[in-house]
Amino acid sequence: MTESEPSTPDFVVKPDTVEEIQAIVKLANAERVPITPVVANTNVGGLAIPVEGGIVMDLKGMNRILEVNATEMYALIEPGVTFGQMKEYLEAKHPELTMAYPLSPPYASVLCNCLLDGLSNLSLRFGSTSDLINGLEVVLPTGEVLRVGAPALSPWWFGRAPLPDLAGLFVNWQGTTGIVTKMAVQLWPKPALRRRLFLLAYDADTPFALLRHFARTMIFDDLGALSWPLGKMLFGVYAPLQKDPEEPLFFVYLDLAANTQAEMKAKGEIIQSALREFQRQGATVEGPLEIDLLLRVEPSLKRFAEFPMTLDFLLDHPGKGLTWVGTYGPTGQWEEGARRGQDIMLQHGFPPVIVARPMKGGHFAVLRFIALFDKSREAHRARRVNEALYDMVLDLGFIPYKAPRWMVEKFQPRLDPTFRDLMQRIKQMVDPNRIMNPGRWLL
Ligand SMILES: Cc1cc2nc3c(=O)[nH]c(=O)nc-3n(C[C@H](O)[C@H](O)[C@H](O)COP(=O)(O)OP(=O)(O)OC[C@H]3O[C@@H](n4cnc5c(N)ncnc54)[C@H](O)[C@@H]3O)c2cc1C
Repeated sequence: MTESEPSTPDFVVKPDTVEEIQAIVKLANAERVPITPVVANTNVGGLAIPVEGGIVMDLKGMNRILEVNATEMYALIEPGVTFGQMKEYLEAKHPELTMAYPLSPPYASVLCNCLLDGLSNLSLRFGSTSDLINGLEVVLPTGEVLRVGAPALSPWWFGRAPLPDLAGLFVNWQGTTGIVTKMAVQLWPKPALRRRLFLLAYDADTPFALLRHFARTMIFDDLGALSWPLGKMLFGVYAPLQKDPEEPLFFVYLDLAANTQAEMKAKGEIIQSALREFQRQGATVEGPLEIDLLLRVEPSLKRFAEFPMTLDFLLDHPGKGLTWVGTYGPTGQWEEGARRGQDIMLQHGFPPVIVARPMKGGHFAVLRFIALFDKSREAHRARRVNEALYDMVLDLGFIPYKAPRWMVEKFQPRLDPTFRDLMQRIKQMVDPNRIMNPGRWLL
């Protein structure tokens, strides 16, 4: 789906076991052949494109859920385990437990999502999905098997403290430091009740002030603001460039859970009193409306009401291209970023699709701009809008996540030089023959 340039591997391998991975890695290391691991290839930035050819290691087949430890609340999984598979498994075997789900398609890998610092429906509570990693097993580029986190010393994969946290050698390195073969990921108690509400905001600043305020109440599982074109796209409009005058500028969604009706009612009262306060101060915001109301208007939207889901309007459109500038950054820069981003997208002829979400109790923000394009003829146009957006967000202090190669090239000069050098030294130490996903991070 990406606008990044394609590249073809020389070999595709589909290992089934850790021993097979070790054997392949040892051979590749001896022969200096690049290896690019991949599962579902949904990262959007083209991070599993084998830019220097060599071996693509397809890990879809290694998809065993090795253990669900209900006492310590974690699942021990292989790289190919998907969100859809985990959901089915938990519902059947551990209905009392749940996990963090992104808006990724159900066939995306849980392990890859956590390695990429993904954002999920529990990110407001717990941060990006790498915070949910308890421990890893990794085949190093030299073929040795390493365990990090509690499993380096204990039979239980209960967490990453209190040993030195070497998980950081693999999180966000985009497969350049080793092949993760097992991961323990945290599970959470599934609350008895869930409610989804949305608000309609008619000015550009209220949604962000609301998100900041609501995040600090600590009563929500998830919060987010979506700009008006997404509303139209949900209803089947392909590339809306014109907002109708009576339409809201942003939809703000509120996702909350509770164990009793009394707890849910108390949360409802907190929402109502916050809204009254905002309205008293002149904010143009309507709601809260129950998501069920929207489903009554358009029953087909039901497929978007449960995790994991396929956002088919982003994937199954005639042009087939999907790209974005997705960032984490300071919540205080949201308004400016959204304002400037909207102008940039419209100048480049793209609907201003903006997603904003508070993370980890409001400690940082997601700001993401999404562009659909025609892959056969608009890849350059998509890259140009991304470059303009990207320069803007970087100036405002946001950092792109799942950064493709061209973005890394652009932000290299701004990166702390000692940080950059240390990355190079670490890479040299763990992968002396530079076989793992070469080209990523310009390593
Ligand atoms: C419509 C849509 C919506 C999305 N929504 C979200 C969202 O809400 N939140 C979110 O976080 N993401 C989202 N994504 C992005 C993407 O789905 C996730 O990041 C996903 O979890 C990536 O998993 P994957 O199996 O596709 O990984 P891949 O794309 O196959 O791989 C990702 C990276 O991991 C490396 N890699 C693969 N296997 C290993 C391994 N075993 N060890 C080390 N490195 C490895 C690859 O080389 C690559 O660099 C969305 C994508 C789409 C298309």
